[in-house]
Amino acid sequence: MLVLVLNAGSSSLKYQLMNPETAEVKATGLCERIGIDGKLVHEANDEKIKLDVTMPTHKEAIEIVIETLTQGEGKVIDSIEEIQAIGHRVVHGGEYFNSSVIVNDDVISKLKKLIPLAPLHNPANIMGMEIAQQILPGKPNVAVFDTAFHQTMPASSYMYAVPYEDYKNHGVRKYGFHGTSHYYVSNEAKKMLNKEDSKVIVCHLGNGSSVCAVRDGKSIDTSMGLTPLEGLIMGTRSGDIDAGVLSYLMEKKDMSAQETVNYLNKKSGLLGVSGISSDLREIIEACENGDERAKTTIDMKCNRIKKYICSYAGMLEGVDAVCFTAGIGENADLIREKVCSGLEFMGIEIDEDKNKVRSDENREINSDNSKTKIYVIPTNEEYVIANDTYKLTKA
Ligand code: AMP
Repeated sequence: MLVLVLNAGSSSLKYQLMNPETAEVKATGLCERIGIDGKLVHEANDEKIKLDVTMPTHKEAIEIVIETLTQGEGKVIDSIEEIQAIGHRVVHGGEYFNSSVIVNDDVISKLKKLIPLAPLHNPANIMGMEIAQQILPGKPNVAVFDTAFHQTMPASSYMYAVPYEDYKNHGVRKYGFHGTSHYYVSNEAKKMLNKEDSKVIVCHLGNGSSVCAVRDGKSIDTSMGLTPLEGLIMGTRSGDIDAGVLSYLMEKKDMSAQETVNYLNKKSGLLGVSGISSDLREIIEACENGDERAKTTIDMKCNRIKKYICSYAGMLEGVDAVCFTAGIGENADLIREKVCSGLEFMGIEIDEDKNKVRSDENREINSDNSKTKIYVIPTNEEYVIANDTYKLTKA
């Protein structure tokens, strides 16, 4: 039996058809420009198919995905009966959900209540579920939350130092994101350490980036907050910033509160500081060509990660493994090296040659003397979503 994993964004839909028992991926793809015109990229049977198809809404997008999976060049199944269930990536589960759940009316109504906390993401996720229910009637849908893994954080980590009533009345607290990835990577690290009572720090470094402190398999703190804006310097997000900068920028640039938050989300981070790109590869290239601002950008990015590693090592009272994952964490040896350099005093010692090895496998890149393991672990959020979906829906 197969699970269809859906990740619905405001104008996009990522999908993967997977066998959760073997982790075999049958097909993967992306619908983009939904509501504008419509583009589909579908990968299956070692082929990549690109199609321009009209997708006025997510409904047509899911219909096209089903059609492509069952007919023509990209066909991988004979009928939708081979799909056991649909697993949905959901960005915000608030305090309602600390694990994955089968979607029902109550779940949808709670997700609707959470829209103010994730105005861009939750509406798209809900739409994905409602349309999947229509197009694949009778098939169970499961919601897997980015926030759920962090629900184990103690109040001392998740509270902001604002009046308590704002937490009680408005849900102002740290929720954390990338939970599915932090769960997967810390669990892999636990297996590699072969240790139950483990202290692990996961650095998920992609276009969006966050760090998580994991003790004995449970998240105890993470760098993203009420929204995914807090923490590390990201592709276009500033990460941690003095809240005073907001009102100062609003006044100086005559921007509304929403415009200022957009500015910090979309125009800042690596893109804003470097003036080059949100893609780290282009900034590294500029740095190699002597661009000083690019060098400062990279130093800022690495220093911020280092700060979090040190502070989380303090909270964990030691660290068994530091893990790197996602686009930058898995591929950018320069960043891993810069982040780890100088941390030898904490027992973190990278091996230069092992760090340069390129691979899709989990790997250890610390020196033989290093007290702390340093791992590169390719993340697999889709596998976690498919597996949770399978476990919750198998007869
Ligand atoms: P993700 O969001 O996990 O897909 O990560 C995307 C980011 O990974 C891109 O924006 C790139 O900046 C970064 N990335 C991918 N490959 C490399 C690489 N070889 N070196 C540096 N950065 C990379």
